[in-house]
Amino acid sequence: MTGERSDSDRQDVEVVVIGAGLSGVAALVALRRAGFEDIVALEKSGRLGGTWRDNTYPGCGCDVPSMLYEYSFAPHAWSRCFAGRSEILDYLESTAATHGVDRAIRYDTEVLSSRWDPDAHRWELRTTSGTYTARAVIVATGPWHRPRHPDIPGLDTFPGTVFHSARWDHEADLTGRRVAVVGTGASTVQFLPEIQPKAAHVDVFQSTPQWVLPKPDYPLPPGLRRFLGHHPAARRALRGLHHWTQEAIGVPLRHPRLLGPLEALARLHLRTSVPDRALRRALTPTHRLGGRRLITSGTYYPALTRPNVRLHPTRVTAVEGSDVIGADGTRTRADIIVLATGYHIGEIPLADRLHGVGGTTLARTWADSRRAYLGTSVSGYPNLFLLIGPNLLTGTTAVPTVLEAQLRYVTTALTHLRTSGCAALDVRPEAEEAHQQALHEALRTTVYNTAGGTGYYFGRPGVNTFCWPWSTARLVKRLHAFTPDAYTWTLPLPAQAGRATHASSVRS
Ligand SMILES: Cc1cc2nc3c(=O)[nH]c(=O)nc-3n(C[C@H](O)[C@H](O)[C@H](O)COP(=O)(O)OP(=O)(O)OC[C@H]3O[C@@H](n4cnc5c(N)ncnc54)[C@H](O)[C@@H]3O)c2cc1C
Repeated sequence: MTGERSDSDRQDVEVVVIGAGLSGVAALVALRRAGFEDIVALEKSGRLGGTWRDNTYPGCGCDVPSMLYEYSFAPHAWSRCFAGRSEILDYLESTAATHGVDRAIRYDTEVLSSRWDPDAHRWELRTTSGTYTARAVIVATGPWHRPRHPDIPGLDTFPGTVFHSARWDHEADLTGRRVAVVGTGASTVQFLPEIQPKAAHVDVFQSTPQWVLPKPDYPLPPGLRRFLGHHPAARRALRGLHHWTQEAIGVPLRHPRLLGPLEALARLHLRTSVPDRALRRALTPTHRLGGRRLITSGTYYPALTRPNVRLHPTRVTAVEGSDVIGADGTRTRADIIVLATGYHIGEIPLADRLHGVGGTTLARTWADSRRAYLGTSVSGYPNLFLLIGPNLLTGTTAVPTVLEAQLRYVTTALTHLRTSGCAALDVRPEAEEAHQQALHEALRTTVYNTAGGTGYYFGRPGVNTFCWPWSTARLVKRLHAFTPDAYTWTLPLPAQAGRATHASSVRS
């Protein structure tokens, strides 16, 4: 699986996977199962795991049931209904080892640029550890990779400690300190209940109230775990129950007239958790449920009611000395500021490093809007596949479900490429355009689009570049069928031709 080293600094392989998180590991396993041995994953860090390696904040964990947050080929006896990050990280590492793909990962190897060579019909990747060439590239760099740092005047002169929640500073002892938290997204919901008992005082700055649904998180007793381990049918039934519950929640998100019961449940959760009327009012969202990422927690609201926690329903506009200042004039002293301001969702870290046909970067191709055929192929970027690309997720879909469906599609495409004798496949612009039109038309009436058009679903105002407008079942079904006719197939140059061609349509 190691590829052939053609000179001291260059390695030629059949497929390069960029990134070794949940997606990269799954890609290696899927490629291997499809008969691809000459593969490597290039990982810029010294350890695999991506999200689950980098996010070490207290309380970090899964917010979909763990039985859905696993590979179908590697069922695991999770210790809780919603596992924590270290268990997920261990799971990824042990799965990579069990399936023997850990040896295909090149650590401390950051891809600096990747360029399509139209003569060789190969990608050339420059990395911090030499050059690779590959027939195909799978981009598995993840949408939640780059933390978003807010532009707050005076923050750089704050005399205390400042860090982003995604890069938690474990040297900073919160015990007895005054902590200001900027932002109330999914991460704050997880770490606030953990830090509240330690800190002297926590000021939470909320610019937008979120809908929070109850989270039935509980440890799974060893007896139940053993039972499920010995009875695969029972495990499948439980997994199915989780899956269809998530799918059922997805229905009103696509048909907002049905949202009433879910919103009522969230309101009831708020009312029973927060006795104080003014606090409840501050926590009540003004957008419809599902218009932003859905949040679940049974501990966030109770943490906000503790005497040492204060919610400020305002965004932070400045930091002056040790004071954090809100748009409403709030001024509060802090020793530590935690920026819980999310990620540059969807701006794949490589977009300005991927050069397709004619040398254009993906960032340039996407200047107007991020788009890809089935979230996977971009016209002008032959033999390149994006994992968790644009418009593939919903408010309720677990990432592994999408990922495995995509990998089935990608390995089928690569197998076609191998057997066709062609050198390259490139999605037709008209197929990409038709997909975009159908997708955005279907999105128009979903709550993702009708709830205000803000938040990270929107790459730029008015264009939802995150959500899949139909059911997860439809996504899986659609990706099951690889569509050769949607692609242009390129014959190799005579010198490179080794095999016969039976491509569906060919350009030379
Ligand atoms: C706090 C948090 C909680 C989450 N909870 C859930 C959840 O409950 N359910 C769910 O479905 N999803 C959840 N997600 C989304 C989660 O990110 C995905 O489920 C999944 O982990 C993405 O995996 P990935 O491999 O695609 O990306 P990542 O995990 O981000 O991995 C990308 C890898 O690519 C590497 N890389 C990046 N650039 C380069 C480069 N230039 N060269 C080489 N390597 C590079 C990175 O180092 C990293 O290892 C959560 C995300 C966060 C941040």
